[in-house]
Amino acid sequence: MSDCLFCKIVSNEIPSKKVYEDDRILAFYDINPAAPVHILVIPKEHIESLAALQDEHLGLIGYLHGKIRDIARDLKLADGYRVVNNCGKEGGQEVGHLHFHLLGGRKMLWPPG
Ligand code: 5GP
Ligand code: ZN
Repeated sequence: MSDCLFCKIVSNEIPSKKVYEDDRILAFYDINPAAPVHILVIPKEHIESLAALQDEHLGLIGYLHGKIRDIARDLKLADGYRVVNNCGKEGGQEVGHLHFHLLGGRKMLWPPG
């Protein structure tokens, strides 16, 4: 997707502070952190949102969550963390490329706003 912000981050057209990368996924620091640790984890393939996920993507999403676990462990978020997906307009999604927020380093509140 040529006009997708996160596809441009994947292609290095837009720089990012990367935490982890392989052929399937990329993890990078959020530009406007909502917690002491705020990382976005995305598939490199352009998938619009969780609602646009196809069954063929389910393995990829399981793999991505295993990497979230590994990143949280590497960053020593031993007291816990939160993984968030904002899906669609009412879900608060602003960037139309599937991404999971990994938030940590402070006590999270519930319910979210
Ligand atoms: P959403 O609201 O779609 O779930 O989250 C989009 C996230 O992308 C926001 O937390 C926002 O701060 C982050 N973001 C937007 N533009 C950029 C950017 O150019 N670079 C990085 N690293 N994060 C961005
Ligand atoms: Zn994209």
